[in-house]
Amino acid sequence: MSTAPSSKKILIVEDEKDILQLVKLYLEKEGYRTVAAMTGTEGLRLVKSERPDLVILDLMLPELDGLEICKKIRTARETALLPIIMLTAKAEEADTVVGLELGADDYVTKPFSPKALVARVKALLRRVERSQEEGPPRYLYGDLVMDLAKHEVTLNNREVPLTAKEFGLLEHLLRNSGRVLTRDVLLNAVWGYDYYGTTRTVDVHIRRLKQKIPLLNDAIVSVKSLGYKLKERDG
Ligand code: CA
Repeated sequence: MSTAPSSKKILIVEDEKDILQLVKLYLEKEGYRTVAAMTGTEGLRLVKSERPDLVILDLMLPELDGLEICKKIRTARETALLPIIMLTAKAEEADTVVGLELGADDYVTKPFSPKALVARVKALLRRVERSQEEGPPRYLYGDLVMDLAKHEVTLNNREVPLTAKEFGLLEHLLRNSGRVLTRDVLLNAVWGYDYYGTTRTVDVHIRRLKQKIPLLNDAIVSVKSLGYKLKERDG
């Protein structure tokens, strides 16, 4: 059964009061609940405290801009999949925003019609709902299988005992295979913002993963002065 739109909560982060009010009005007219912020810092705080179902994020914001917020949302484990629609002033900006690794799911260029924005919100929420119905993903990587529902990693059908951090790190690498992930991104994603360790922690855990799962020896490559990449692979 699909959820009624009225139960969905949308966070709007926009520093132009008129646009903010207009978007809020149209969303509420459609039955959505809304929360609003006019600065990036406040927006990020509300992402954590309000747990919205979707975020409408202006690119140009005081304090912390839309891209910075996007990045913080994407690298924190509990909000990594939060749907984001970015509001941009120019179409060229939009390409960057959506194309980026830590970017938005969709974008709308200003000036926009509120109706069109509401349609995008609906479409994105539908897309998310569909992927949730498919259940938690399983990652296949050669003979390696990560089953998120069982919280289990197997290699050639034999379970590989991993610590919680090793599991988190491997999950992040599998989810982003083919992409270079900096040590900072990995540190934030797996250990969280409040962690005060150094990026060396990441190196140590990568080494342990490679010891436990030999096929990762060649598969996880270190990218000079950047971070790590899990090579892409079919199946
Ligand atoms: Ca703005």
